[in-house]
Amino acid sequence: MKKKRVLIIEDERDIADLISYNLERARFDSLILSSGRKIIPQAREYKPNLILLDLMLPDLDGLEVCKQLKKDKDLSNVPIIMVTAMGDETDRILGLELGADDYIVKPFSTRELVLRVKAVLLRVYPDETALTDTILQIGPVELDSLKHRVHVERTRVKLTMTEFRLLHELMSHAGMVRTREILLENV
Ligand code: CA
Repeated sequence: MKKKRVLIIEDERDIADLISYNLERARFDSLILSSGRKIIPQAREYKPNLILLDLMLPDLDGLEVCKQLKKDKDLSNVPIIMVTAMGDETDRILGLELGADDYIVKPFSTRELVLRVKAVLLRVYPDETALTDTILQIGPVELDSLKHRVHVERTRVKLTMTEFRLLHELMSHAGMVRTREILLENV
């Protein structure tokens, strides 16, 4: 299955990179755009399946970008998730009125963001349920969270439910430190 493309419109490079990193780990393709004027033509070229739009852009009004995206014949059907600051209720409402599909409030966890992206994509493209997203692979270990199966070098490995959950938790946060508390809570 082809990877879904997520366009990230965000001027803060650290945040954009973090979002991009987490989306790519969840098997999305992503592109970051940060500068104002060329957003529309670059977005057209990228043909995103979803747009994450930060409303707080320095040289540009995020809501205006939203309006332009919704007016563009190639981009008007692409779902938009707005990224807003805490308490920016007016912007959120205006954005939703302009046709944005969802919003997420800063600061957010990347895990929540990825889930929101998946939820919106599932709503907009229900026929293409991203089944590939249920399979995690790291080195020789492959974990299918839909079928609850684990293979190591293509050989099926039997695990207890707790072992499976623990492995899933660790594999879906590869490279990150998971404290005992977090593991207990999530597993
Ligand atoms: Ca910003």
